Amino acid sequence: MKLLAKTYFSDIYELFYPKICGACNGMLLKGEMHLCFTCLNNLPFTKFENIKENPAQKLFEGRIPIEFATSYLYFSKSELTQNILHNIKYRYRKQLATFVGQQLGASILQKHQEHQFDSIIPVPLHPKKTALRGYNQSELIAEGISVVLNVPINTKTIRRIKNTETQTQKNKTERWENIKDAFELIDEKAIYNKHILLVDDVLTSGATLEACASKLKINDNIKISIATLAIAF
Ligand SMILES: [Zn+2]
Repeated sequence: MKLLAKTYFSDIYELFYPKICGACNGMLLKGEMHLCFTCLNNLPFTKFENIKENPAQKLFEGRIPIEFATSYLYFSKSELTQNILHNIKYRYRKQLATFVGQQLGASILQKHQEHQFDSIIPVPLHPKKTALRGYNQSELIAEGISVVLNVPINTKTIRRIKNTETQTQKNKTERWENIKDAFELIDEKAIYNKHILLVDDVLTSGATLEACASKLKINDNIKISIATLAIAF
C-alpha cells in the first residue's frame, strides 16, 4: 500500500511537473535534471564572484557596509533567466529553485573559504505572501547554497512586517521610503559576531536587500555578504 501510494504520488508529480527544462522549455533528456545541459552551459553567467568590485558589490557602496556581493545570472537580456525566475516564483518549481541555488552556491564556494559564512539568511517574505505562494523562493535558493557551502540556514532571526506593494512604478526615494521599515530583527543573539550570507532571488535597485541588511547590521561585529540568483540591470 505504501509503495502504491508512493507510485501514485510520483505519477501525479510527473503530471504537474513534466520533465521540461526550467530555462528553455525543451524536454529534458535522460540524466538531465531541472535544466538541460545546453542551458546549464549557456546561461548568461555574470562571473561576478571572480570580480572584486563587481556591479552587485558597487550597488551597495555608500549604502550599507558589506564584505562581498554577487549575482549569478544576468536577468534583463536573457529569456532563459527570466523563465527560470518565473518558474520558481509563480509555477511552483521548487526543486528547480534549490537546484539553481546549488549552482549559485558552487560559484561562491571559493568566497566561503575566504570569508567563512556562519549562517545563510534568505530575505523573508511577508507571511501573507508566503501563504499565498505556498513558499518563499529565496528560502529554496538558500537551501541549495546551504547544501554546497555546508552552512546552516536561519529563518528565525528576521521577519517581514510590511507587505509592500510592487516597487516597479516607484522612483528611488519612494522605493526606499516604502521598504526601509519592512523588516524586523527578532533574535539579536543569533547574529552576534556572525558573518551572514543574505540571499534573494533578484537584485534590482538593491532597496529590499539594503533594508533587510540594515536591520541585521546592528553593530560592527556583524558582517554581511549578499548573493542573488540574478541581477536585473
Ligand atoms: Zn534548456
